[in-house]
Amino acid sequence: MITFEHVSKVYPDGTKAVNDLNLHIEKGEFFVFIGPSGCGKTTTMKMMNRLNEVTSGTILINGKEIHDYNIHELRRNIGYVLQQIALFPHMTVEENIAVVPELKKWSKEKIHKRVTELLEMVELDPQVYRHKKPNELSGGQQQRIGVIRALAADPDIVLMDEPFSALDPITREQLQNEMKELQQKIKKTIIFVTHDMNEALLLGDRVCLMRKGEIVQCDTPQMIVQQPANDFVREFLSTHTNTYNIEEMIDTDFKPFSSEAEVNVTREKFFVLDAQGVVRGITENGEIRSTEAVLSMDTNIEEVMKKLTEVGMLAVEKEGRVIGVITNESVVRYLHRSMQEKVVSSNG
Ligand code: ADP
Ligand code: MG
Repeated sequence: MITFEHVSKVYPDGTKAVNDLNLHIEKGEFFVFIGPSGCGKTTTMKMMNRLNEVTSGTILINGKEIHDYNIHELRRNIGYVLQQIALFPHMTVEENIAVVPELKKWSKEKIHKRVTELLEMVELDPQVYRHKKPNELSGGQQQRIGVIRALAADPDIVLMDEPFSALDPITREQLQNEMKELQQKIKKTIIFVTHDMNEALLLGDRVCLMRKGEIVQCDTPQMIVQQPANDFVREFLSTHTNTYNIEEMIDTDFKPFSSEAEVNVTREKFFVLDAQGVVRGITENGEIRSTEAVLSMDTNIEEVMKKLTEVGMLAVEKEGRVIGVITNESVVRYLHRSMQEKVVSSNG
């Protein structure tokens, strides 16, 4: 669907924003760009609809170079949602949504029907909302309109640049979930920018982590979490997600392995124990035999709980040694402790 071949962007002032980008986005894919501020996410997006011209390299959409499309036609087939809710303030919801369909010279009836359909899709009563002005809507409602406006003329591609980052956390989570459902219904190719790793992992079919204009890792959420390409990815994961402190979940009274076996492992991992306390993947003296039953240290709490229901107990390994186990009870104790800490700190 969308292919980047050796794409670079240098701004007139000499800023190298994007450097030799190569990637391929599939039709129907939910593709997420993530990375620190200034790493080139917005620049990459804007090159696709030619709001920014590439300095070198080629971008192809459906096998055709973007320069070979009529620029208006190109932009009308690419919906665009921005972080700042950019609805036209003097126009009603209906008029806002109708902008591109009107450019495409749709009939009044067709536009009316489409507005109804879109408002229903995001569960805003068309009767009530179509005649409202943006300032009569909450932030979350305005951003819903921003999203459906981008979808209005049925574009093949939708670009969304940090669309939810100005919203409060609750509205934001709601919209993330709606977006996920929406994508399953409409099956558009969506390119989504965020700096929120939870959002990226929740929404993305693939997540592309950028740094200084280059791709660091481009993979499924599962692979990003389980096999971060390097320390930058690991650090980004741990500082941009709600992580739980796995080490604090360890049952401190239970130490099945006391071996000092030297094992050449650099990362901290879990090993799965079965209900009988037999370790799959390491030998009795703590030596690693197989990585089949290994969970990464970045594993989220849901995954830990899921594994626990399967096997009853998880062994935790650090620097080549098993340092303890996690059980259902030890997780519950940990959660209980951390909840109390939260209550205490929010009261004080
Ligand atoms: P992101 O969206 O990841 O925060 P951007 O793509 O906006 O990053 O910016 C990438 C780099 O290019 C940054 O160093 C930024 O300051 C620079 N930049 C962006 N727009 C311009 C511009 N119009 N002129 C010069 N430099 C720019
Ligand atoms: Mg940006």
